[in-house]
Amino acid sequence: MDHVEGALSARDRVGVLDFVLLENYRSEDAFIENLRKRFQHNLIYTYIGPVVVSVNPYRDLKLYTPEQMQIYRGVNFYEAPPHIFATADNAYRSMRGEARDQCVLISGESGAGKTEASKKMLQYLAVCSTHSHDVDRIKDRLILSNPVLEAFGNAKTIRNDNSSRFGKYMDVQFDYKGAPVGGHILNYLLEKSRVVQQAEGERSFHIFYQLLAGADQDLLDTFFLERRPDSYAYLSKGNCTRVSSIDDKADFKTVYNALKVIDFTQEEIEELLSIVASIIHLGDVVFTSDGDRAGIIDAMPVNRVARLLQCPEEILEKALTHRTIVAKGEKLLSPLNEDQAAYARDALSKAVYDRMFTWLVQKINTSLANKEQYRKHVIGLLDIYGFEVFQKNSFEQFCINFCNEKLQQLFIELTLKSEQEEYLSEGIEWEPIAYFNNKIICDLVEERHRGIISILDEECLLPGDPTDLTFLAKLENAVGEHPHFVSHRTGDVQTRKTLDRDEFRLRHYAGDVTYSVTGFLDKNNDLLYRDLKEAMCESKNQVTSSCFPKSELDDKKRPVTTATQFKTSLNQLMAILMKEEPSYVRCIKPNDNKMPGVFDPILIRHQVKYLGLMENLRVRRAGFAYRRPYEAFLNRYKCLCKDTWPNYYGKPKDGVELLCQSMEYRHDEYRLGNTKIFIRLPKTLFATEDAFQL
Ligand code: ATP
Ligand code: MG
Repeated sequence: MDHVEGALSARDRVGVLDFVLLENYRSEDAFIENLRKRFQHNLIYTYIGPVVVSVNPYRDLKLYTPEQMQIYRGVNFYEAPPHIFATADNAYRSMRGEARDQCVLISGESGAGKTEASKKMLQYLAVCSTHSHDVDRIKDRLILSNPVLEAFGNAKTIRNDNSSRFGKYMDVQFDYKGAPVGGHILNYLLEKSRVVQQAEGERSFHIFYQLLAGADQDLLDTFFLERRPDSYAYLSKGNCTRVSSIDDKADFKTVYNALKVIDFTQEEIEELLSIVASIIHLGDVVFTSDGDRAGIIDAMPVNRVARLLQCPEEILEKALTHRTIVAKGEKLLSPLNEDQAAYARDALSKAVYDRMFTWLVQKINTSLANKEQYRKHVIGLLDIYGFEVFQKNSFEQFCINFCNEKLQQLFIELTLKSEQEEYLSEGIEWEPIAYFNNKIICDLVEERHRGIISILDEECLLPGDPTDLTFLAKLENAVGEHPHFVSHRTGDVQTRKTLDRDEFRLRHYAGDVTYSVTGFLDKNNDLLYRDLKEAMCESKNQVTSSCFPKSELDDKKRPVTTATQFKTSLNQLMAILMKEEPSYVRCIKPNDNKMPGVFDPILIRHQVKYLGLMENLRVRRAGFAYRRPYEAFLNRYKCLCKDTWPNYYGKPKDGVELLCQSMEYRHDEYRLGNTKIFIRLPKTLFATEDAFQL
């Protein structure tokens, strides 16, 4: 008996490794208490069936060493402690065994550990997949593409010192032997406004600071740069140019070397970095206001931009201060005022950076491309920007949160679908259960003609003088009384909060977010004056000119708006993911201060709620808490029955049946499916486990 008590108290002390084994599985308190116990014992991973829940430890727990990798290699999912390596290994084996494309969907709020998880899983796949000649080359490239993408696409925010400011879906392609032979990255909406503006305590993209800290003096001189970032306008908007957790100088070396490995020529690297340098100088172009005409105060920065981008200085200068207007078939050069010129300068900086980023991703893709055409199957890793709520939320947060909403929908549909499918294929009865489907919120945002994006686009197309406020008025009329929309007219009846006249609020699955519409039209239109495009087309910097092809100037079609582009690419992504077999990692941030060992129950409760973890658990527990393939179950418990010990030579299913009889399971406690045993309540299993330990 002592042994049983001992076993129970171990469970009490460190919690259960799979939430389905919680007795009180409907209680959020019990759920959080289990997370807390495990977190305190540095057990940061816990399963909900096949889903991994991960709590960011904010310290190195030596969880990703080669020895750890060996524990998970080729081992059945539930046979080793919960880990993202188990997920990676399981995906890899399913891909080979079932010949199906796989994807791993990683979600959670900013700072919860998505990017770290995706990198560790990629490393696992690189190390633990089949070796064959020539694959090391591709493995190195896959892994080294990360520091490059992070340098250009990540930044320090209030929430995370290394926050992803773009969405990334990276797939690794394997040949029929299971060796990695290529990869491909899809990138989503970079938060380019960060190039020109950062909130207090935040930085621009890492690469700017890396360049200044890490370039040798010669390179800095070539780029006309000084080492200190504080003196540059674009780099110091957030009054935070140094971050204690970041070594910009060392990171620059890593990025520089990585670029070389991923096939960038010396020339390309220099061109790329000179674009980065040119943007720094562009930020220092300031304008005077002479009446209504903007003039350039100091010619030096423009001169430097022109030299770095290798485009004629007069053309650039004119494009920054004038705009060509076509009236009655005639071209007129109209001067810009000070504000308009500053706006044009910022639009140019954002466009150049954004296009350079896309170019970079394409270039990486070329280097990762599998030239032999013997790709068989893929494992994709999705790492996007997490759900975010700031004091002020704008168009960027609207897009990011919409993306999270779509991902949540995919999660709901796929987990429910796969549960149902499993019951069906195992020949076991399934009763559908009720759950919250956030499709209603996705529709509110993206439905054709009626959704927020459609209304925004319509307003952007309107002749006359549409403004952010006219858009908001239209939106309020069109949406009317929607359970997930709060208009400033009525205020929030639930929270009794009033909204400013430029705000609306969405009740996201993850919580309420109040958006300010200021800037929505502008950011959605994302126009770059033609004069500036023409100037960029003149550039002799090959990277720049390939980002601004002359053909674009002849294109009479109105460019697709930012929100619609984003919506389309997200829906394409969803279609890809729907065809693949998904695994999930749900990341949780334990506290708001990036502190190791601190477990903030309020913050965590909120995430548990919005990640839908209780619901997920409920679905998993709706029928049977525990299920295992017959072989695995028999192997573990065969010693509990004299008919199956030491070996059972009949069909595993029959062996399991004998085991159940000898354990005196009651009929309503379990079911025997086609390939697996299903056990209804954890206590049945605990009794078996305890008997096993006696
Ligand atoms: P965002 O949405 O802002 O991109 P994210 O979910 O990708 O956030 P990460 O960048 O992965 O968050 O993690 C934030 C930081 O937390 C990391 O830089 C690292 O310091 C720490 N961290 C995350 N996961 C782990 C882990 N498994 N072990 C140790 N530290 C971690
Ligand atoms: Mg990230």
